[in-house]
Amino acid sequence: MSRKAADAGEMPAWYEAGLRHAWLPYAQMKTAALPLPVVCTYGSRIVLADGRELVDGVASWWTACHGYNHPHLRAAIERQLAVLPHVMFGGLAHEQALTLARRLAALAPGDLERVFFSESGSVAVEIAMKMAIQLWVNRGIPGRRKLLAFRGAYHGDTTGAMSVCDPEAGMHKLFGPLLPPHHVIDLPAGEAAAADFLRFLDRHADEIAGIIVEPLVQGAGGMRFHDAEVLRLLRNAADRYELPLIFDEIFTGFGRTGSLFACEAAGVVPDIMTLSKALTGGTLPLAATIARKGVFEAFWSDDPAHALMHGPTFMGNALACAAANASLDLFEGEPRLQEAADIARALESGLAPCRTAAGVKDVRVRGAIGVVELHHIADLEALRARFVQEGVFVRPFGSVVYLTPALTIAPDELAILTTAVVNVVGERAG
Ligand code: PLP
Repeated sequence: MSRKAADAGEMPAWYEAGLRHAWLPYAQMKTAALPLPVVCTYGSRIVLADGRELVDGVASWWTACHGYNHPHLRAAIERQLAVLPHVMFGGLAHEQALTLARRLAALAPGDLERVFFSESGSVAVEIAMKMAIQLWVNRGIPGRRKLLAFRGAYHGDTTGAMSVCDPEAGMHKLFGPLLPPHHVIDLPAGEAAAADFLRFLDRHADEIAGIIVEPLVQGAGGMRFHDAEVLRLLRNAADRYELPLIFDEIFTGFGRTGSLFACEAAGVVPDIMTLSKALTGGTLPLAATIARKGVFEAFWSDDPAHALMHGPTFMGNALACAAANASLDLFEGEPRLQEAADIARALESGLAPCRTAAGVKDVRVRGAIGVVELHHIADLEALRARFVQEGVFVRPFGSVVYLTPALTIAPDELAILTTAVVNVVGERAG
């Protein structure tokens, strides 16, 4: 693959001068295609430096649920910028963070009512893991240091989060021997796996601090879906062994799978829930780890050693919390879940022709997630470049081509995306 942008035109001066100093994500810097220079965004559009507009099929790693530059979010951030962009959350509090904590507690199911803020999904997962492990220490029960996680999972790139990702198929294999040894087993989907799971718990429950799962959809691990029944089984088992159950809703939260949170579809209340990505409507980094009353109570004590020792510098950032509050306004005032249902129908019909295309293993849709899984993608960079030529931004990984558009995407724009996928997948076969 030559070092060219997907379809290079004249590059702006800032691009030429700056790129040599940037280290890009998930990229072999020597051989990766160069990133596309973006000058602005709006709605579901990404505008490139040479004037081309791409219809966005990814919503910036699943964050921009209201589309780009939503005026309500922009106004909230601008207002906050003039008054209080940021103060530390240690010893100080402010209206946006406390309002957001109250609103998230009200939206989250059951007694998920204590919100710990951080600034990225991976860190929210670290905090959830620390909560689960320390809960046992605080209760005076030793030896429970391991999380139980599932093959196909992706929970982030920091050390703790990496240690509960899929150790084989995931992208952090290199670090395997250096990571804390948690248990990673098959998701209990289907009778045999469920029986294995229960047998595993029988043998190992005494050393397990908690169970962590991405509810309904394992995202970055391959866009794999499982049924709500799996989550109910996890809840029952967690209750039986008194284990805290962590739902990582960083991808699935805020309507992506069709309900506001994926756990609602299963009627299951986790003990700890992580949120990020669409929390600020794709504008600013923010994450939340939300604990149920019982989890919080294990930390409520006269002993300072029982405190949760975590406090990211930008925790509760006021700009980000203002954006998140504004994003919640939009979920309350605009029909996002109806839009997700409409997108699901359009993805079903729009991607249907892929079902019979050669080289396609599976086509699946859940909420506003459409996936075409191929048997094999030989040249990912070339495939990504083909999508740009079709006028869309779609970023296949592994063996999947997927669409996770803004929930506000217009029907004609969604049709452009699905048509591009059908065309590009179809021509691979031909
Ligand atoms: N958990 C899940 C389910 C994710 O999908 C991701 C990111 O893709 C993360 C955690 C990590 O989030 P971040 O990239 O903000 O650290």
